[in-house]
Amino acid sequence: MRRLLPILALLLLSLPSLVSAATIIHAGRFIDGRSDTPRTEVSIVIEGNRIAKIAAGYVEPAPGDKLIKLTEHTVMPGLMDMHTHLQSQHSKDSYTERFFMEQADYALRSTVYARATLMAGYTTVRELGDNGVNSIALRKAIDQGWIPGPRIFTAGKSLATTGGHADPTNSLRGDYRKDPGPFEGVINGPDDARKAVRQRYKDGADLIKLTATGGILSLAASAMNPQFTNEELHAVVATAKDYGMTVAVHAHGAEGMKRAVLAGVDSIEHGTFMTDEIIALMKERGTFWVPTNMASEWVTKQSQIPGYLPEIVRPKAATLGPLMKATFAKGYAAGVKIAFGTDSGVSTHGENAHEFELMVEGGMPPMKAIQAATLTCAQLLRIEDRLGTLEEGKLADIVAVKGTPLENISLMKSVAFVMKEGVVFKGN
Ligand SMILES: [Zn+2]
Repeated sequence: MRRLLPILALLLLSLPSLVSAATIIHAGRFIDGRSDTPRTEVSIVIEGNRIAKIAAGYVEPAPGDKLIKLTEHTVMPGLMDMHTHLQSQHSKDSYTERFFMEQADYALRSTVYARATLMAGYTTVRELGDNGVNSIALRKAIDQGWIPGPRIFTAGKSLATTGGHADPTNSLRGDYRKDPGPFEGVINGPDDARKAVRQRYKDGADLIKLTATGGILSLAASAMNPQFTNEELHAVVATAKDYGMTVAVHAHGAEGMKRAVLAGVDSIEHGTFMTDEIIALMKERGTFWVPTNMASEWVTKQSQIPGYLPEIVRPKAATLGPLMKATFAKGYAAGVKIAFGTDSGVSTHGENAHEFELMVEGGMPPMKAIQAATLTCAQLLRIEDRLGTLEEGKLADIVAVKGTPLENISLMKSVAFVMKEGVVFKGN
């Protein structure tokens, strides 16, 4: 015992330095993600990676604490984007680059897009479709702290049916046009569907994405037609449930969308031809909607540039793109649960906040749009217990913009401060 005494004394003496100092943010305006009313002059005390305390007024830092003054700013939860593709960014070369890009090229390029996304204030994203491995490696690199980027929940490779949106061999010349199967994410029939879900689980995906109807940018004729049978949809949903995975569904046409909602999927992406009947079904079942207004605007613009989009794609973009505005206004007014998503990778990474402007144009009040990009996303991701709001005990994902975005939503495009799990990545 006597020999242990000096060691004990040493331990006691070093205790104060073992208790890590807090970081205190003085927030001029404070949006918690849950309340419809912002507060003013609030202090957020962060210890380690969590919010330890939220207090009214500006709390004085204790010796050793770090003070971050955001008194001119509106402080809010880290933003979330429920529909990104960090592997790519659309350009005129998008349809040919896959013949020249190695996996390592994709991986290195995606680090640039991941960084841009985090710096724009998005501390969490849902990756909805890559070439099968990229976003899983990217998630690991970010989690390990090798590179800066948002927290990623990824679907890995999207599931499609033969010739469907996300069949990687569409429109290739004969000797390239293989017959991909469940391993590559292409299924025909419920057995394939189950195997493809299990393969994604094995790959390390967090959730499942499937393409229930045609899509605009794929090299195929229709963006509208249903592409999964009821049996296939039910097999995907049931298997995903077994593995604790949610199901995100790309859909433009009404029939494929309705089948997916009835099969019990978790979110509808795009939803261009959402009918009143589908709106009612989604409300009844609590299905989320990720409208991706930015993607619709982007394809509309590109369809007007001669020669930019392949001729099998351009008419789909020109016809479907402009319809989204009215669908968004209708769906929001009807009360569908809307989660923020941009389809970035179609549009430019890091410009995600333009979606806020389009949502507000569509009739959504700025506070509701911010909640759609925070709390609602956390609910869709089933991480509401630890993220999505600024509340004591939650992970410290915090962003701030100068001024009052509730009066001018465009300010969301200039996020000045980004903290992810207590680590400052931008500002101060
Ligand atoms: Zn997408």
